[in-house]
Parts: sequence; C-alpha cells; structure tokens
Amino acid sequence: MVTICLGLGWLAIFGIVLANLLPDGKLVVIDPGHGGIDGGTSSGAILEKDVNLRMGHILRKVLERHQYQVIMTRTDDSDVTEFVPPGGSRYQRDLKGRVKLVGRVQPCSLISIHVNWHRDTWRRGAIVYYQEGEISGRLLAELIQKELNLLQETQRQARSANFYVLRNTNTPAVLVELGFISNPDDQKRMLDDIWLTRQAEAIRAGLEAFLKQSDCLPQAPKYRRQDPAKSAGSP
Ligand SMILES: [Zn+2]
Repeated sequence: MVTICLGLGWLAIFGIVLANLLPDGKLVVIDPGHGGIDGGTSSGAILEKDVNLRMGHILRKVLERHQYQVIMTRTDDSDVTEFVPPGGSRYQRDLKGRVKLVGRVQPCSLISIHVNWHRDTWRRGAIVYYQEGEISGRLLAELIQKELNLLQETQRQARSANFYVLRNTNTPAVLVELGFISNPDDQKRMLDDIWLTRQAEAIRAGLEAFLKQSDCLPQAPKYRRQDPAKSAGSP
C-alpha cells in the first residue's frame, strides 16, 4: 500500500515537473469574420457569420489537439467592438477591435475566416488571401492554399489583397475564404462539420509547414514590421 502511494506521489510530482518543462504552444489567433448585427454575406437563411464562427471553433479544436495555443477574436455571435472606445462607426470599431486584440497577444500568426459570394454561381473553392507586399503572409497563404487544393476540385492560387485586418496587424496574417456561399456544392460543404474539419486540418498543415520555416517561439513576437511608415497606414 505504502509502495503504491509513494509511486503515485512520484508520478504526480514527475507530471508537474514535466508539465513545467514543456514549452507553451505556439500562439495563433483565429478571427471568425463578422458577428452580431453584421451577418456578412448570405444565401437564403444561411449567414456567413455563423459559418465563420462554426469553422473558428472547429479550427480551434484541431489546433489545440496539436498543442497550439489559440485565442479567438469572438467565440459567440457578437462583434468585436468592446476593445474600442465608443465613437466612429460600429463596422470600423469592430475591425479595430480585432486588430487591437492581435496587437495585444502578439501571436505567431493570424487566421481570419470568411466566406465568399459571387453572382456567377459556378465559381467555387477556398481561396487564401494575404496582404499585398507581406512576404511572410504570402508564404503562409501559399502553404495553406496548397493544402486546401488537395481537398477541392477547383485549384486556386493564393491572392494578394488589401484588407483592414491583414494590413494593420504585425504578424503573418491570412484571410481564408472557405468557399462560395453562392455555389450550391460549396454551400452544402460549409454546413458539413466533417468537411469543415478536413479544411481545418488542411489549414493546420499549411500553418505547420510555415512555422517550420520560421523561428516563432511560443508567444514570442517575431514579426514586427521594420518599416514604421508602412505599419502606420490609414484604415
Ligand atoms: Zn466576410
């Protein structure tokens, strides 16, 4: 009996020591687009904000299973205005809130989740965007796009864009459009947790490939821009 107790005691102490020796996971911010009164794009009763949030939670689970630390800009159907003092439009405060959160926690990367729409209903497939001129963001986008292309019939290329959240964050940042809500097949998939989990695994694989090539330590800010003029761009 005494031996068993001693053994369990040692196991417990060993567990605590081991837990303290293990580094914290690399920190990633997931940003489910829109929320609250901002539904984003839609098709019938399906709102983009709900798909984004659902995927945000699925991606969080996938990343946490792989020892990442995850912070979400929103975890429910609300916007992200609470970090920003009143004044200005709700839309601007929402975007500023997301940027502010990323600035505070300084993650290894930011993954913003959105859904596409086009009047040509034949258009489909996930597309990953990065901020024009951002080298690390481009690499991250290309690596995630490569993995998403393994799942989908339509082969896409990562695209440069000029989005507020990407432009104003000092971390490798991408915006993933999961598919076109205007395309019946894409729409069916974005309501299917199994499909979303496959996409989340693809995003994780792309992120992993990116982080292998970078030296982002757990929670260490490594990607501050050197050019202050660039980071001071207007919204
Ligand atoms: Zn959107």
